[in-house]
Amino acid sequence: MTRPELVLLHAPSNYDFRGRPVVYGPISDVIPSTPIFEMYPIGFISIAGYLEKHGIPTRIVNIANRMLREPRFDVERFLSKLHPLAFGIDLHWLPHAQGSLELARIVKRLHPSIPVIFGGFSATYFHQELIQYPQVDFVVRGDSTEEPVLQLMQRIKHGAAVEDVPNLSWKDGSGVAHHNALSWVPSSLDDIPLDYNYPIKSVIKYRSLAGVLPFSNWLDYPITAVFTCRGCTLNCRSCGGSRFSFKEIYNRGEVAYRHPSLLADDIHSIQRYLGGPVFIIGDIRQPGEDYAEKLLGAMKKKRIKVPIVLELFAPAGEAFFREVSRAIPNFNIQMSPESHD
Ligand code: SF4
Repeated sequence: MTRPELVLLHAPSNYDFRGRPVVYGPISDVIPSTPIFEMYPIGFISIAGYLEKHGIPTRIVNIANRMLREPRFDVERFLSKLHPLAFGIDLHWLPHAQGSLELARIVKRLHPSIPVIFGGFSATYFHQELIQYPQVDFVVRGDSTEEPVLQLMQRIKHGAAVEDVPNLSWKDGSGVAHHNALSWVPSSLDDIPLDYNYPIKSVIKYRSLAGVLPFSNWLDYPITAVFTCRGCTLNCRSCGGSRFSFKEIYNRGEVAYRHPSLLADDIHSIQRYLGGPVFIIGDIRQPGEDYAEKLLGAMKKKRIKVPIVLELFAPAGEAFFREVSRAIPNFNIQMSPESHD
């Protein structure tokens, strides 16, 4: 079995959920996951695919899902057998605040000399607080961390300095925190493939299915997602992914889009290997009618038949739905805006 150099761990929202009953509230009602929030962020797949492509063997382990599915799964025993160059833990959604830090604490106790890297939207927002924790060595900030994580892994591998790794928060030998500039903000998603072959290869490579499943009943409902963009042109008030939030927190001035033909390729690859529904994240009209037209044309050409979920940020007219139904036989609509403005 290949020895991974980076192990990406996904924690449950509350690490102690197997021993202590907790009332969670509506924290996971709009996603296909239980309140344990065993679904890991899709960024795990793009980071793992990107690192593998650049020669860093990377393994995703959904600890939350294993704890949920296997009541006798011994997390500490499992972790003690892993010896990567670094562990990565997501703190993307805030409900994972306790779970991610507790998991990091256990990792650090078992492997004091292996660096622990945090990343995700919430980790970016709270990077100054997070880096103070003894179990956190690095925080990789921003909405696009594939390249910064690769650079960090290369430095860790060769024992090199990290002062110039973009988007990185780190601690020096005296424990003083440093925050490198959040300068890695790609203007397009064309070089960031979302490779859904990665989980399939990973199952064979690491001989574990439960560890890589995105959420507990995924095999019954194998929904996947593709991104048209990172960022948003709108400013719904309660949204952490709004134009304002992306500018203020992730230093993104402009929305980055994926070329429609590449997006159609992504969907085609999912249809070929997984065959489940595909959620297209981001209104396909956001970059302009031309983008929607090109994407629908490319999907028609590729004979996309899997169910497609389209996200709309504003009502669409009859002509749009006519075009959609001509291009794809099976679709449904999700409305995204959370406020009138
Ligand atoms: S349209 Fe969706 S992603 Fe954009 S700001 Fe509104 S809720 Fe957030």
